[in-house]
Amino acid sequence: MSYEQSDTLTGIRDRVHAAELISRGLRIAAVRNILPGVYRCELSRLWREIHPLSSTPSGRLPNGSASVIRTHLHSAIASAMLVEYIRASSERAGCVDVTALCVAWDTLLGSAEWSEELADFVDINVIWLLARDYHAKLVRLAECPRCRSRRLFCTQWDARSKLMKCPHCALAST
Ligand SMILES: [Zn+2]
Repeated sequence: MSYEQSDTLTGIRDRVHAAELISRGLRIAAVRNILPGVYRCELSRLWREIHPLSSTPSGRLPNGSASVIRTHLHSAIASAMLVEYIRASSERAGCVDVTALCVAWDTLLGSAEWSEELADFVDINVIWLLARDYHAKLVRLAECPRCRSRRLFCTQWDARSKLMKCPHCALAST
């Protein structure tokens, strides 16, 4: 793997992107997944500069979108996250688009007051996971034939999972 020199244009752009992502709370392992040309030690230093009062998050990243979406409400919010991400991303992006990730996060953050219960789920790390899995074709959007809203599917869901049902229809009927 080649590492971009920090004084080349690509190297500078990567570091600006890294700072934008870290300031929004994206974990270092996820930033490395998007920007493999930036060293982990540089990202740790950036994290300490940007978040002097919080230690760098540790522990493994979730395996995939299917492991974090557990309820119809999660599924509805994840659908909205992915819709925002795709709306903001450039057509040719074959991998996670940094700008679209930031736009989707800023839009969601400003769009509602999230309850404490959902605070862990409404997180830029979840949008990153959805975007990564979307580009890997593990997650897709489809229109619900009943309510016409766009909803998300994880290919790893079991066909019998309650999450196969449209979350908007499911929430409307409870
Ligand atoms: Zn529906």
